Amino acid sequence: MCGRQARLMSGEQPGYREPDIFEIVHCDFCGTAYAMPPMIDNGLYEFIYLNSHRLPGYMRYAGYSKRVLSEPDPLAYLASAEDVYWAIGKHLEDVPREARILEVGCGLGYLTYAISRRGYRATGMDISRKAIEEASRNYGNMYLCADLIELSSHATCSYDVIIMTEVIEHLPDPVGFIRAAQMLLRKGGYIIVTTPNRSIYHDSVLWQTETPPVHLWWFSEKSLLYMGNRMGFEVCFTAFKEYSTLHPIRRRCELSLSLPTRGPVLKANGNLVNEDEERKIIFRFQKNFLKKALFKIVNQFVRAKDMTRGGSRRSVICAKFTPSPEIQKRQ
Ligand SMILES: [Zn+2]
Repeated sequence: MCGRQARLMSGEQPGYREPDIFEIVHCDFCGTAYAMPPMIDNGLYEFIYLNSHRLPGYMRYAGYSKRVLSEPDPLAYLASAEDVYWAIGKHLEDVPREARILEVGCGLGYLTYAISRRGYRATGMDISRKAIEEASRNYGNMYLCADLIELSSHATCSYDVIIMTEVIEHLPDPVGFIRAAQMLLRKGGYIIVTTPNRSIYHDSVLWQTETPPVHLWWFSEKSLLYMGNRMGFEVCFTAFKEYSTLHPIRRRCELSLSLPTRGPVLKANGNLVNEDEERKIIFRFQKNFLKKALFKIVNQFVRAKDMTRGGSRRSVICAKFTPSPEIQKRQ
């Protein structure tokens, strides 16, 4: 992202499904990590979508999609459940109700629905037909099954805010994707991007995010700053201090900080590698004092690093990409 030479960090990163193996390339300067070869495995996505109720990391999405229907203020509920949605809600505090908002990669559609319930004209878009059908069935007619790159080539600038939560890390070409989103912005509009945060981990941690090819990138704050600036955006990060005070980092998240990398989730036949993965990790930790000590040190290091920013970092980055006046003139 910064234009400097990246180095091969490992040739043996396990993929999401056994026996896939990926290379991890890392830029020591901007802290961007990416997986090689870059590929989209639509079959795997479809599998994850259909099995989200039993896959670690995805189960909660199915829960949110049901729960929002019974909440008086679904966005407030999501904001209390997860830092990503809290950040989105924070941004929307400054957005007038007549604004048109597009959520790209809306998946099950609950965030788009929550935003619409606040009175915005919200549209959710996803490339998965099944996801869009289910979202429309649950929440009504505010969804679009489309490919952003294709849509941007013939649609006009029509949105005030474009939201992409946890999308860019899945894409072989995140830069081209954000550029396409920019084509759909009205004058004065901006893009909000969230993605897992590599900045809170030590450089020696290889890959502590969803294993490839589900996630192909692991970005740091510097990565997004370089990416945005090179494309002509002003980049501004959300400070999570307020959220962190309300919801201190949970044990589950702290635990993963000391693991050097992530293993596969699925066996080749589609069964889970470890049904009780989390429980076993906790058990192993309790048995192994050396690991426990290491965990403490890494955790303290991360916290100390975080303190210098006033506790404002989380395991997710939320960045606002505002087109600079020069690109706006070209629009
Ligand atoms: Zn770099």
